[in-house]
Amino acid sequence: MRPAILNPLFALVTSLPGVGPKQDKLLRYLLDRSETPRLVDLLLHLPTSVIDRRARPTVHDAVPGTVVTLEVTVDRHRPTPPGRSRAPHLVYASDDTGDVLLTYFRAKPGYVEKLLPVGEKRYVSGTVQVFDGTLQMVHPDRVVDEAGLAKLSGIEPVYRLTEGLALGSLRRAVAQALQKLPALPEWIAPDVISRCRFPPLAEALNRIHAPLELTDILPDGPFWSRLAYDELLAGQLALALIRAQLRRPAGVRHTGDGHLRNRIIDALPYALTSSQQEAAAAIAADLQQPVRMLRLLQGDVGSGKTVVALLAAAAVTEAGKQAALMAPTEILARQHIKTIAPLAERAGLRVAILTGREKGKERRDILARLAAGELDLLVGTHALIQDDVIFKALALAIVDEQHRFGVRERLALTSKGEAVDVLVLSATPIPRTLVLTYFGDMDISELREKPAGRQAIDTRAIPSSRLTEVIDGVGRAVDAGKLVYWICPLVEESEAIEHLTDATTRFESLQKRFGDKVGLVHGQMKGTEKDRVMAAFAAGEIQVLVATTVVEVGVDVPAATIMVIENAERFGLAQLHQLRGRIGRGSEASTCLLLYREPLGEMSAARLRVIRETTDGFRIAEEDLKLRGEGDVLGTRQSGLPGYRIARSEVHSQLITQARDEALRIMRDNPKLAGEQGDALRCLLYLFERDEAIPLIGAG
Ligand code: ADP
Ligand code: MG
Repeated sequence: MRPAILNPLFALVTSLPGVGPKQDKLLRYLLDRSETPRLVDLLLHLPTSVIDRRARPTVHDAVPGTVVTLEVTVDRHRPTPPGRSRAPHLVYASDDTGDVLLTYFRAKPGYVEKLLPVGEKRYVSGTVQVFDGTLQMVHPDRVVDEAGLAKLSGIEPVYRLTEGLALGSLRRAVAQALQKLPALPEWIAPDVISRCRFPPLAEALNRIHAPLELTDILPDGPFWSRLAYDELLAGQLALALIRAQLRRPAGVRHTGDGHLRNRIIDALPYALTSSQQEAAAAIAADLQQPVRMLRLLQGDVGSGKTVVALLAAAAVTEAGKQAALMAPTEILARQHIKTIAPLAERAGLRVAILTGREKGKERRDILARLAAGELDLLVGTHALIQDDVIFKALALAIVDEQHRFGVRERLALTSKGEAVDVLVLSATPIPRTLVLTYFGDMDISELREKPAGRQAIDTRAIPSSRLTEVIDGVGRAVDAGKLVYWICPLVEESEAIEHLTDATTRFESLQKRFGDKVGLVHGQMKGTEKDRVMAAFAAGEIQVLVATTVVEVGVDVPAATIMVIENAERFGLAQLHQLRGRIGRGSEASTCLLLYREPLGEMSAARLRVIRETTDGFRIAEEDLKLRGEGDVLGTRQSGLPGYRIARSEVHSQLITQARDEALRIMRDNPKLAGEQGDALRCLLYLFERDEAIPLIGAG
């Protein structure tokens, strides 16, 4: 249960005056939540910059192009003449040193007269410009009288917004949320506070959302750093709690004599790369240890993780135990079973697949065999973690494409056996510093070499104005018998993204040209239908496969050599890399065409440049991080690694290590989170929604 003291922060934003259904929708989009955001989400949405209104020059000394606050007397109005609605409403104002023109476009009749009464003194704040030799302020941001001036903040935060959401209304909502901030206990240990000079949480939030100095909102400043540390500590503590759970009682051994593994290796039509061999050996060594394995197998798309996973499963099978392999999508799970089944059969490993699609008798049979120990490896999706899926002796949980699963799902799978070893497969190469943040203290194996015989991919960026040429090129490829992926971004409901080509629309237009050689797969399709299309593509019956990002992970059609990505500027680097990894898998040269819509923003251009320059996933991951830092500032949303809203790898890497050390110290000194300090830490975990592990405390 969440501590009651946090309830005000978890109230819905719609409980704030002035935040209605329309704002709710915009805020969900802005804050990337599928449900109505809570006040805490607003408070953790930190400003990207500030406006400084403290400059108070005379009219004569005001510097054009800067934001100033002027003290003026209103001299006269020249309202918009009737019938000329495009002409502005002009207000002539002055001080002792000169005149300034305040300009309003499309003002409601009477509004400006009321705001700026003739003969009165007013403070107007905004950017001044010189037009026709006259100093002007177009649409002052603020107009206040003497009383209002006292309340006018000199420095105002500026937030990342979304179309339709006004800065003023977001600011008001945040300010109201700040008012509701309860007095929370301090969870950071006193010596850390004094060593890092962290301000209290309330001060940090207040100074960031209501800055007193321009530097208050800097990510490396004390206020942001405090919040980043909180977020990191919550993450590290949650991981440490889980890890503490993953201690196997000594004496249990999970590996056999190697006979199944040898048979699999003999059945392979290729030789393992040396990094595959090393990874398999490291896993086997882990399985021998009397401590539970928690290992990350990182390898770029196509580096051959599946066979390493199969060898791990075989190792526990040799010892009479079972393994599970959980994938995030149905397509991926089927892909795995397709690779695994023939090898497993030759080696004598009993495998099956379980997804949402296996129903009725088929499902009952699988479950019965699983419970009886007649299955050695069960491959599947989320369906694996349903309650009625019972293993006889689960010893190894393999989780593919980990970052798509939450901690909850990982735990649910490992709780289906005694002291289950965990192997995580990730195709997103994560720089080492970040592995800590996402997975905690995990052992890592990397598959750095590509299997032999892979061809380079020729990647080009092409403006969408040249679409016809691209389609002609695809036509020639189809005539030559080649297989082509045509990727369209997901259709989002938000009006902010209205230009995206709908996959269905593109499918229909390509069908006109290529007839039944074109197929379509997208996320909303039924599983069987998806498989049918994928199989037809793999068999070459379909030559152009129009797809949303469902092909992003894991799909393996080595004969496909061409990929067209529409609206490539919309995709994050990691995603582009994953997508492109679907081609260049066979022995033929491949081509990737990135279609982009002009004009191309600076960030998108940088992403497309990186993806053209290299196919090295690790380099791409590093570039991604660098760009992402700036991307946050520029307000670009990127898909990719989830989880952290405040901490930034490039600024706070020091804090990551500190938070890790602190989490380990807490686990040593107070593993049950007892006492006052423990209560405070529970608060922290709930605040950042890292509370998954709390029920585990004291469970053993
Ligand atoms: P990923 O790491 O993306 O999951 P897969 O395990 O799907 O990669 O492997 C991609 C392809 O490479 C598969 O067709 C697999 O059979 C093949 N493969 C794996 N290891 C090797 C190897 N050592 N030599 C040649 N091909 C390999
Ligand atoms: Mg894979």
